[in-house]
Amino acid sequence: MQLSAQPNPDLTYIKKVRALKAAVVISGDGTNEAAYVTAVRKEAKTSDAVNNFCKAAAVEAFKAYFTTKGQQRFGDRVNHFAPKVGVRITGIKIKDLGFRWASCGTSGVLNFHWACMMAPLKIIDYIVVHELCHLHQRNHSDRFWNEVDKVMPDYAERKEWLRKHGASLTL
Ligand SMILES: [Zn+2]
Repeated sequence: MQLSAQPNPDLTYIKKVRALKAAVVISGDGTNEAAYVTAVRKEAKTSDAVNNFCKAAAVEAFKAYFTTKGQQRFGDRVNHFAPKVGVRITGIKIKDLGFRWASCGTSGVLNFHWACMMAPLKIIDYIVVHELCHLHQRNHSDRFWNEVDKVMPDYAERKEWLRKHGASLTL
């Protein structure tokens, strides 16, 4: 008796992961719509391969990818904005910050959640500027928002995007 050919879930999984990664990279460059990334991510999430066979593996692969890619992308954006905000930082770390997008350590190290990498570049930039401004003002006072406004006059709409869509940036 011959075994029937089984579809290879690994191949499907790899294909989905590649599609998602490509979408995230494209979106991160600011040349694509966030809606596209969301669509691809949903597809990856609902595929049988990811859902039934190796969802945990897929999640781990995404996290690892976003963490590595995030180091580079956040590094670039922090270097771009730090002089504009007028601050110096000692380093950045990409990690799981639970319900926070970013945090600012006392030693001048900025931490960013790997999930930020699923947001469009405009939003990543807002998160970066927000955190850099905390080096001037460690609170959310009017003086803090004034610092943000100086560098990013349209920050309010980016902030609103994050408030509305932030919860959907999950694996
Ligand atoms: Zn804040």
